[in-house]
Amino acid sequence: MKRILGLFLAVCLLLAGCGAEGSKKYTRNFFAMNTYMTMTAYGPHAEEGMKAAEEGIRAIEDALSVTREGSDVWRVNHRTDEAVTLGSDAEAVMREALALAEQTGGALDPTIYPVVEAWGFTKEQRRVPGSGELREVVSRTGWQRVHLEKNKLVLAPGMEIDFGALGKGYAGREAGRILCRHNVRSAIISLGGNVEAVGSRPDGTPWRVGLRAPDGEGYAGMISVRDAAVVTSGSYERYFVDVEGKRWHHIIDPATGYPAENGLLSVTVIGSDGLLCDALSTALFVMGRDRASAFWRSRDDFEMILIEEGRRITVTEGLEKAFSVLPEYTGSTVEVLRK
Ligand code: ADP
Ligand code: MG
Repeated sequence: MKRILGLFLAVCLLLAGCGAEGSKKYTRNFFAMNTYMTMTAYGPHAEEGMKAAEEGIRAIEDALSVTREGSDVWRVNHRTDEAVTLGSDAEAVMREALALAEQTGGALDPTIYPVVEAWGFTKEQRRVPGSGELREVVSRTGWQRVHLEKNKLVLAPGMEIDFGALGKGYAGREAGRILCRHNVRSAIISLGGNVEAVGSRPDGTPWRVGLRAPDGEGYAGMISVRDAAVVTSGSYERYFVDVEGKRWHHIIDPATGYPAENGLLSVTVIGSDGLLCDALSTALFVMGRDRASAFWRSRDDFEMILIEEGRRITVTEGLEKAFSVLPEYTGSTVEVLRK
């Protein structure tokens, strides 16, 4: 299987590299899933491929949006019956979310939505909930209490779901597949902080993705990838400051109901599965450095870059050559994590 895949990639690279027509550049920008998305693709099939990919992303948004009336997620959260029938996208994402919730020991929890609402991250009315209120909303979460039987989802009263932690990763993965099906061999999609790279650049060199500096302006580093997703979760993305000057961000530790506070500023996950990368970027952020490191050692389906307070960067060994720190990110240290 690996050999066939290798051959396939080699053919893709050859195709991507050939001829003037093969390297013509097209871009497409649009707003979806609450974020600006940019696609760049090369070659004769680029335009039709990107059009189809955008349609695919919009269909996924229609199914997964937590705010859009009539979406699958909205119907679950406004259910009147116990069981709700999901469409294929929502069913697939829920199934993978539940598997990853189990694998991450609940650091990822697709039922965290009542807590996210209590913090006001859904309504732009951000506030610190009282401890009693927090206890009440946490009591309405728990991925173990979700029943998914084929496409029927059954939740206890008061429970609500949200795919904010992995929906964009799923959309990126699907958009990449749509581009491949349209014979696009060289493309890169940016869905907010999520990047999905198809093939390599038209000249055969890897795509380069910048890593935002989580504690300042500009970029901390650069990563070279082919056929991979690069997904970052950071406490700098969505946060508010309370009257006492304390910062609260939007990545919640399901065990406490409070934003995760463990010294991590950003987690970037790189791998071939965009949904997995997105889900893990959130879950590893919740776990913190030590648990995230142990989790990485127990698996072989992703690599990661952790940035902690004090510009302490940890890179897993699979990225040793692909990652470089930018000179302007001064005072940083880099440690390589080995298996
Ligand atoms: P983004 O890239 O949009 O910043 P992330 O992938 O970092 O998003 O996921 C954060 C979002 O996921 C939150 O806005 C919230 O909706 C939801 N969320 C927060 N904490 C968790 C968690 N522990 N498990 C699952 N979803 C979460
Ligand atoms: Mg995520």
